Amino acid sequence: MAYESALEKKLARKMTKAIVDFDLVEDGDRVMVGLSGGKDSWALMQLLDALRRRAPVAFTLVAVNVHSGYRDYRHDAIAQACAERGWELRIEHTSIGEIIDDKLEEGATPCSLCARLRRGVLYRIAGEVGATKIALGHHADDFIETLLLNLFFAGALKAMPARLVSDDRRHVVIRPLAYIGEEEARDYTRQAGLPVIGCCCPACGDLGLQRQRVKRLLLDLERGHPGVKQSMLKALGNVAGRHLLDRRINPVAELRAGVAASSTRPRRSAGGAAVV
Ligand code: SF4
Repeated sequence: MAYESALEKKLARKMTKAIVDFDLVEDGDRVMVGLSGGKDSWALMQLLDALRRRAPVAFTLVAVNVHSGYRDYRHDAIAQACAERGWELRIEHTSIGEIIDDKLEEGATPCSLCARLRRGVLYRIAGEVGATKIALGHHADDFIETLLLNLFFAGALKAMPARLVSDDRRHVVIRPLAYIGEEEARDYTRQAGLPVIGCCCPACGDLGLQRQRVKRLLLDLERGHPGVKQSMLKALGNVAGRHLLDRRINPVAELRAGVAASSTRPRRSAGGAAVV
């Protein structure tokens, strides 16, 4: 079956690579898609559905929308778009918005607390709908922004996992858009005619200061040196652990053993003769 457009074909190829590289979807899976109504979650849903129709493995999809309780949130538009496409949808009404208002400290950005609360709801619903995987709409730009945020502000060299087993081992979270850029996801959602819905919370579109700076930095770099973001994404899959200072990766005993091994290994002289 042919894809709907050249863009869909290109993105399907990228998603398939992520699925194969990280073993994201298996035969018989019931994949629950976190569908906020934002451009990324729509791109994820539409593309997984396009793959599902063509994939050699059989899997099913169920979209789950977590309604935070904000009055103007257009969950009806999400329900209508899913119904038109025959997508199974569950909308979960919660009071996450109120909880954030109560718990958030003055001046703090609500998004990480919000994400944690939503994650808890998704884990609960995954059990109720019999999901074997929970798919989230983080794309390649999220991966490299998170890498830089951790590098600059958290003293850690890490992005986010493409596949994550929850601490209690009951859930598997997958990120099939890992190789797809934000711009591509935006174009694809627009092309598919899906209604992008804002989350309607007071912080909607208000990124934290650090994330804003990282986004601007990447934008500037990419303008001056096209391909920088692609190179960063490639770097995430090309880690030279021995060239880092993490002693968990490079225990001193092993470093010593390495030195000892190389000092007893015959070396070659310029003329090719072994030098011990
Ligand atoms: S913008 Fe609002 S709804 Fe969206 S993640 Fe942040 S707190 Fe949650």
